[in-house]
Amino acid sequence: MKRVELFAYPAWHSLSPAMHNAAFERLGIDARYEAREVAPGELAEAVEGLRNEEMLGANVTIPHKEAVMPLLDSLTAEARAVGSVNTIVRRGEALEGHTTDVDGFLQALAELGIDLEEQRVLLLGAGGAARAVAYALLMSGVGELLLHNRTAERARKLAEDFSRHGEMRVVGEDELLELGRECRLLVNATSVGMMKGGMSLDESPLPAAGLPRAGAVLDLVYRPRLTRLLREAQEAGLRVQNGLPMLVYQGSQSFSLWTGRQPPLDLMRERAEEMLAS
Ligand code: NAP
Repeated sequence: MKRVELFAYPAWHSLSPAMHNAAFERLGIDARYEAREVAPGELAEAVEGLRNEEMLGANVTIPHKEAVMPLLDSLTAEARAVGSVNTIVRRGEALEGHTTDVDGFLQALAELGIDLEEQRVLLLGAGGAARAVAYALLMSGVGELLLHNRTAERARKLAEDFSRHGEMRVVGEDELLELGRECRLLVNATSVGMMKGGMSLDESPLPAAGLPRAGAVLDLVYRPRLTRLLREAQEAGLRVQNGLPMLVYQGSQSFSLWTGRQPPLDLMRERAEEMLAS
């Protein structure tokens, strides 16, 4: 039997094993996906273990997406540009680092059906997820990309790092609400709104007064399924999407990288929904 691991810390909340194992089973692939709690000091050893013949590769998530990069033999141009790896593929003895977050986000965004050409987009956050989203949006040619983060310095650093891919305007607290209203799309790539220790804090990263007047809101958080941000956006008549479609799309691309096969997307989504509901 082949194996895939997820390196996370903590690992309890992952929906990925249910999604991938259902897909392996449906396609008759003799493989198993397991989430593994890997503390930062154990990462190098966990990565070395992937060179083993039975391993197809791994997923990597918080807090390892950047730290794993120097431990790999090669990186795709996209992983290098974004500065993070969420998927490792073993080819022979060599380990390749990929990011499927960029395409996963773009596929999820396409479901919202909004045309972003000549439009303003506000992105909240400057962590690993925000980097993938910013790269995706710059590559897809949005009109203007605005970036706001609690720690302004981190937002400035992101804008500077990505300056060769396109321009981003860093937005401070003082102009956030006004500019938010003028956007066509708002993306939350912060962890605000996410359940912590099984508790929903019902917090939003943006007051309702800063929501776009028209358009859509995409929240990368999927637990709870309807965050306060999405609830308020829905009440304001905006189209909304949580982080589940992105999770499924990025997972499906990782699956294809490991197996060379297209996974059953509907089944993966169904399993992820079931896990969230349980
Ligand atoms: P990260 O690197 O730790 O970044 C966290 C971000 O959230 C930073 O911008 C941080 O701001 C901000 N933040 C945290 N607490 C905050 C608070 N109380 N007020 C304001 N801002 C706060 O995490 P990440 O990997 O980017 O992930 C961010 C979120 O996206 C998580 O909820 C994660 O589950 C989700 N995600 C979803 C998918 C998907 O497929 N749906 C994929 C990746 C990530 P500072 O810089 O000021 O600390």
